[in-house]
Amino acid sequence: MSSSTTESVSRGSELYRGKAKTVYHCDDSSRLVLHFRNDTSAFDGGKVDQLNRKGEVNNRINAFVMEKLAAAGVPTHFDRLLSAEESLVKRLDMLPVECVVRNIAAGSLCKRLGVEEGLELETPLFEFFLKNDELHDPMINDHHIRLFGWGTQEQIDEMQRQTLAVNDVLKPMFADIGILLVDYKLEFGMYEGKLLLGDEFTPDGCRLWDAETRKKLDKDRFRRDMGGVVEAYEEVARRLGVPLD
Ligand code: ADP
Ligand code: UDP
Repeated sequence: MSSSTTESVSRGSELYRGKAKTVYHCDDSSRLVLHFRNDTSAFDGGKVDQLNRKGEVNNRINAFVMEKLAAAGVPTHFDRLLSAEESLVKRLDMLPVECVVRNIAAGSLCKRLGVEEGLELETPLFEFFLKNDELHDPMINDHHIRLFGWGTQEQIDEMQRQTLAVNDVLKPMFADIGILLVDYKLEFGMYEGKLLLGDEFTPDGCRLWDAETRKKLDKDRFRRDMGGVVEAYEEVARRLGVPLD
């Protein structure tokens, strides 16, 4: 039996320390441990802080969302929760691109094109960005991805298909609890020849607005110094029915 199906998994050496999570090896080389830290960053690491309880809240929201997606047929890397701040995932060969879907205009779309924040988009808008902090994650298209070898046409098609499939699951799921799914970013990687959803889905990587008041319940509270960041994430968890300690 693989260690991923047994209860105890021992965290091994550190593989990578990102801005918000640390990735560890474990005794099963096909798996990794993701540790969701309390560190928060914005503007490609230009603004950082520590927010109590954020690691746990995000780890638990991510587990809940990944399980919902898997149940709806979106293949993900998520195996199971290991502890309050840690999850066991399949080790992916990550593609260096970020896939963004938008339902409502916000963030870089507004800055880039001068559209008003809050404009409802008639159909979901898909965008690719290069995952590269030094270059400030520039926007790219499928031609760049093929030309520079960041992915094949098949991977491009599959990333688009899965990212939009996620919208079909999560937009109504959030609508049911009075939350607008404004936009989100996903990352994918390869596992045994298959493209799987990796990384995380948490309020750190999406925009969520209260449907009635349009109150921001996501990382924009941190970006814009609005306060109540973790309280807003906890509100999302509470409405989803995600148990917190
Ligand atoms: P960043 O790298 O942007 O600072 P994080 O702090 O969230 O972000 O670090 C987590 C890192 O782990 C990301 O670079 C992400 O691409 C990578 N990652 C996420 N899931 C997996 C996985 N299943 N296998 C390998 N790497 C992963
Ligand atoms: N996003 C992210 N990581 C990034 C860039 C964007 O999680 O490196 C998320 C962001 O939180 C938002 C969506 O992707 O939910 C679209 O982000 P946008 O392009 O508007 O960029 P921003 O102005 O938020 O940096």
